[in-house]
Parts: sequence; C-alpha cells; structure tokens
Amino acid sequence: EQRELGRLRAKPSRTLDKVDIALLANAESLEDVTEAHALGAHGLGLYRTEFLFLQRDELPDEQEQFETYRDAALGMNGRPVTIRTLDLGADKADRTGLTLSNEDNPALGLRGVRLSLARPKVADTQLRAILRASAYGKLRILLPMVSTREEVLAVRRRLQKQAQLLRAEGHEVAEHIPFGAMIEVPAAAIALESFIDLVDFLSVGTNDLVQYLLAADRNNEAVGELYSPLHPAVLRLIAQILRVGHEHDTPVAVCGEIAGDPRMTRLLLALGLKEFSLHPGTLLEVRRVIRDSDWAQLQAAAPKLLAARDRRGIERWIESAGHA
Ligand code: PEP
Ligand code: MG
Repeated sequence: EQRELGRLRAKPSRTLDKVDIALLANAESLEDVTEAHALGAHGLGLYRTEFLFLQRDELPDEQEQFETYRDAALGMNGRPVTIRTLDLGADKADRTGLTLSNEDNPALGLRGVRLSLARPKVADTQLRAILRASAYGKLRILLPMVSTREEVLAVRRRLQKQAQLLRAEGHEVAEHIPFGAMIEVPAAAIALESFIDLVDFLSVGTNDLVQYLLAADRNNEAVGELYSPLHPAVLRLIAQILRVGHEHDTPVAVCGEIAGDPRMTRLLLALGLKEFSLHPGTLLEVRRVIRDSDWAQLQAAAPKLLAARDRRGIERWIESAGHA
C-alpha cells in the first residue's frame, strides 16, 4: 500500500479522461516545504506565516521574514510559492501584543487582513520581506479574511508603494507578483464580482467559510455536527465561486482541509475544481483518487450533487461517485 502510493510521487495528477489537476501544498514551516517539493507538489498554494509570529515576545523583523520567504521560494525550486499575509487574531496565542485581547468574538474581530490594515507598519514590513524574496523564485501574495473591495485595494496600494521604495533602495523585486484573495467570508464569496478585477487568483478557505456560512464555530465541539462542508449551502457557494472565477478567467483553488480529504476529492472535481492546495500528508492519496476519476462523468453527476437536500443526500452522492 505505502509502496504503491510511493510510486505516485512521479506520476501526474491527471484524470482518466486526461484533465490535469494542480496539486499544491499547504505549508507552515520549512520542513513542510521540503516535503512538498519531494512529493512533486506543483507549488505551495498556502504558506501560512503565523508561525513566524507565535511563541515569541518580539515581532520578526524584515530580514528574518525575508530569509524565511526566500528559503521557501528556493525550496520549491522555481515552482509557485503563495505566501499568505499574516492571519493572526485574538483566537491565537499571540504574545507580541499585536492582537487585541478583549474581543468577545475573536473569529468576528480584528484578524487577517483587518489586523494587517490596522497595523500598517507591521503589514509593510511583511510586504517588503515578500517583495525582496520575490527575486528568488515565483512568489505570489494571498490575503486572508477579505470581505470588501476596499481591503484588497488598500493592500494593493501599500504593496505598490513598498515595491517602488525597495527598487529605489536598489533591491531587486520581481516584475509581477500575482496577487490573490482568500474566499472565506461569505460576503466576499457572494459579492465576488465586486472585486475580482483586483486579483490574479483566488483560494477558497473552506475551514472558515463553513464556520461563517453555517454560523458554527470551527473549534466548538458542541456544534461539531453542524460544522461540516456537507451542507447544500456550502456546495452551492463553492460551485458559484468556481463559476464566477471561470467567467473572469481567474484561477480558483481550494485550500481548506477538505482539499486534503480523499473522500471529498470527487465531490470537489464534480463542482469544477481544478486546483487543490492541501497538506503534504495526503497529497498522494488525493492524487490516486484523481487518477481513478473521470472528469466528464463527474461533471455530468454534478446537478444531482447540487440538488441534494441534506447531509445524507450528499453522502449518498459521495458513496455512488466512489464507484463511478
Ligand atoms: C481556511 O480557513 O480554510 C484556511 C485555509 O485558513 P486557516 O485554516 O489558516 O484559517
Ligand atoms: Mg481561514
């Protein structure tokens, strides 16, 4: 079994009817980067940068961040590396004093891009570090927790400003750094057309999207049953995001946990997903399911999936797709 999976390291992530699917990795350390590269990941679809800020009292400076992002770029050897800007909030044990400590609802509070915009010096330091690292590989920038057009515009402006300053200081900065937004707040998903012109790519953060869409805390066991992507609203919204992205020629990935769950692979293919970003641990299993799947057959089965009225109906679809 392990040996059979091992053989898939060198194999393409291609369906039976020859549709290529991109498998990118989620990483939150340099070890993850090394593993992702060894498994033949197409790149990093989500490099979480919170680890640089946690378990310490002082913020990481520009040089430390630059070296970390540069090493990720070098570690992926020219493949795309998507650096997500800081997604801290009062839900994480931050000791640097960056986050607020008195929020009643941290998940609905100052986190992600909101925190970055409220701490512009910290945000600029991170953007400068990413810009400098862009000289060493194919870096992309991804904003977490976007809910408005203004947020995307505000970060884009800061990024352009810092790129100008760095070039004037003699630093090398890549000509073009693809700029993307995470879709994890329902408002951003529903009103995607209102800001899609500002981004080069999108990545659906289903961990948070499910939490906010179903009003069910992702960490609260009492509502753990409800906190599930197997709800008709979640599937319809993902399908809608993929459709709008397609209409605007903007690539859409899914980087939440469901992208790394082999039981969800056919469901996501059926909804039209062609780009997965997942933890390296299950990359080969997901690749195996993709290689055993027929894209056209799954597209034909999509209406039935979207018509399911409850969790049981969705599970039944998954079971029958397993034998497709
Ligand atoms: C998500 O919300 O799906 C996601 C990928 O981000 P995180 O789990 O870091 O919030
Ligand atoms: Mg998230």
